[in-house]
Amino acid sequence: WEAELDVYRAARPASERLWREGLVHMPDGVPMLWMAKWPGPWPVFVERAAGAHFRCADGIDHVDLCLGDTGAMCGHAPAASVAAISERLAAGATMMLPTRDAAVAAELLSDRFGVPSWQFALSATDANRALIRYARQVTGRPKILVIDHCYHGTVDEAYATLDADGAVVERRGNIGAPVPPSLTTAVVPFNDLPAMEAALATLEVAAVLIEPALTNIGIVLPDPGWHAAVRELCDRTGTLLIIDETHTLSAGPGGMIARDGLRPDAVVVGKSIGGGVPAGAYGMTAAFAAAVRDSLELEDIDVGGVGGTLAGNAVSLAGIRATLSEVLTAEAFTGMIDRCTEWTVGVQAALDEFDVPWQVTQLGARAEYSFRPTPPHDGREAAEADDFELQQYLHLHALNRGILITPFHNMALMSPATTAADVERHTVAFREAVVSLFG
Ligand code: PLP
Repeated sequence: WEAELDVYRAARPASERLWREGLVHMPDGVPMLWMAKWPGPWPVFVERAAGAHFRCADGIDHVDLCLGDTGAMCGHAPAASVAAISERLAAGATMMLPTRDAAVAAELLSDRFGVPSWQFALSATDANRALIRYARQVTGRPKILVIDHCYHGTVDEAYATLDADGAVVERRGNIGAPVPPSLTTAVVPFNDLPAMEAALATLEVAAVLIEPALTNIGIVLPDPGWHAAVRELCDRTGTLLIIDETHTLSAGPGGMIARDGLRPDAVVVGKSIGGGVPAGAYGMTAAFAAAVRDSLELEDIDVGGVGGTLAGNAVSLAGIRATLSEVLTAEAFTGMIDRCTEWTVGVQAALDEFDVPWQVTQLGARAEYSFRPTPPHDGREAAEADDFELQQYLHLHALNRGILITPFHNMALMSPATTAADVERHTVAFREAVVSLFG
């Protein structure tokens, strides 16, 4: 660890200088606190990012397998998105009036995710907040059910977890929660149908909000039949089912919803769909959308406490239109998933060679290795396998070889621009790290 730290310090003086300048007026020297959560003594400052690579302020080229925590699943600065976004920016961005891209973007999303009625937001967090409000509005019920160790953005209701006694408590790091989360939120473990059934039977739940696979505590896949059973429980109890595909879009062009034939009442997407600019979107079934309309007095200017000046802005919509139709295409996903399979095979081969009892889970274009021999079944099992120091070492080792993997996890994501050579660079570096630990 110390030797890797020395390498990092010696190679990144420009980043250090920028970080020290940043410290004067920003906590931790960065514009958003998570940017400080990297393994080195200071963050890498980026000069330029294109495709699957970025060059830092010190001139080092990196293969980017983090890709903005999926925000750049489309690759950095994809040409079609940049052209559409630039053109729209030059033609006016913030009118709070619709542009012709809106209907096209909504249709593209409908085709992919199978629900017909879309609204736009600035982020996936915003989209989740809007749907939570709508769900409460149309059901008249107070609570949202989420999965333990989920993440749906900085949404109050979803920032909850189970303590050792099974009580709903604030998630660590929940800053300034307005009310105790036990008042707004029910939490059950992933893949635990009896727990969900019990919660829906007793807790006045407006909506179940899930990722179709957990992706924010490593990757945890659903048991066969889990989604169908969740749908059935929601139907039986009159509970809305919201599926957040922000990350699981990695499974394919229509995320896990299209790949696995899931049937949500509402869908959330964000991050990469904008092609590099802030974007979020939420789609509803015709029945849910009609219930929302019926429940609102739409002649009232204050339409339900959702939206915002910049939600649905022309630049986001141009980005979504171009990215979905020209960048994150079905063909692109085929290549991304192939690259990810190569990554998975490479990591597994290094683990097998040295009998390391870790396993790799792939979800389409994204994969993760976890420090346990079998796939985790729920968030708690995944969390128990965490080893912060080991993870920090592996990330720093990779960074020193010009490879960025997703912080907080051992995850890699492929973009349409990621090449077999990029994957090979990781495979070689990863094996070297395994040798340094177990060789
Ligand atoms: N939903 C999921 C599943 C996420 O993983 C995230 C962020 O990681 C969000 C929503 C929030 O996205 P954003 O921070 O872009 O609002």
